[in-house]
Amino acid sequence: MKIGIVGCGMVGSTAAFALVMNGVGREIILVDINRLRAEAEANDILHAVPFAHPLMVRAGEYADLVDCRVVIIAAGVAQRSGESRLQLLQRNAAVFAQVVPSILEHARDAILVVVSNPVDIMTHLAAHFAASSGMPSKRVIGSGTMLDTARFRTLLGRRFGVDPQHVHAYVIGEHGDSEVLTWSVASIAGTHLEDFAIRHGDALLTDAERQRIDEQVRRAAYQIIAGKGATYYGIGSAVARVAEVLLYDQRAVLTICSRIQGWPGCEGVTLGLPHLVGADGALSTIPLRLDAQEQHGLQRSASILHDAIESLKLG
Ligand code: ADP
Repeated sequence: MKIGIVGCGMVGSTAAFALVMNGVGREIILVDINRLRAEAEANDILHAVPFAHPLMVRAGEYADLVDCRVVIIAAGVAQRSGESRLQLLQRNAAVFAQVVPSILEHARDAILVVVSNPVDIMTHLAAHFAASSGMPSKRVIGSGTMLDTARFRTLLGRRFGVDPQHVHAYVIGEHGDSEVLTWSVASIAGTHLEDFAIRHGDALLTDAERQRIDEQVRRAAYQIIAGKGATYYGIGSAVARVAEVLLYDQRAVLTICSRIQGWPGCEGVTLGLPHLVGADGALSTIPLRLDAQEQHGLQRSASILHDAIESLKLG
């Protein structure tokens, strides 16, 4: 079971490390425009193998991606001083225009997992470039709002004193400022948060608490970047989990992003929603009964992403 990672900066190499720590797959190939970096990361991670799981980790070229079942794309260029968001997006679009066909030339049957930011737009672009190789959009997925969902569940778990694995709550829409925390469908062991609080003699969540949790989820990346310059452990682990679900056809429900069909107001837009994920990629979108405010927030997020894609004039 071979996994490729294209772009092994902080996020790509941390994803490789998480795969080794979790024993996901058998072989990892690291590809980067900077070959020295790929080799250095591969060697460093390989030295963790004796302490973890027996995986092979090596640097390679696109041709080495042959037979990969999953290829993670974490390649991208950083913002230059004075550069606008659109200019940065255009340069990253140019990176993907080269990277995606190069991957598909060798790893024809791979599912593509995009992590590069802005992830919804980059996933849309990857699907756009992959379509010319005949690849259906369900086989191109992005990390979407997985990390935001994990942060939301962690904060709710802490508030209610419950393991976050038993908290069901989703962050949907753009992985960014316009994302939507779906409070109306949040539950613990199938019980709505209010009922759970009443049954356990806890105080009900106040508006101020909700506001604080919302802010902490939405602003988490800004706070981490302010402290250490980048985020990579959380996202690297999230991507390793996606790879595991794809490789072992686990049919997990994940808030990945993929091109949406059949959801009013989001048609054709790539954004984060709960999806059933298995060996074939995004198998279906799971409908949520949102309240009016959440529905409106999701449509606003979709329209922001739609406009960003339009600005790239893909044709
Ligand atoms: P992040 O924090 O998102 O991982 P980095 O800048 O650390 O960002 O990593 C991005 C990586 O993508 C770098 O290692 C860079 O060399 C790589 N990269 C940039 N352009 C390309 C490309 N065209 N093909 C392959 N890798 C690329």
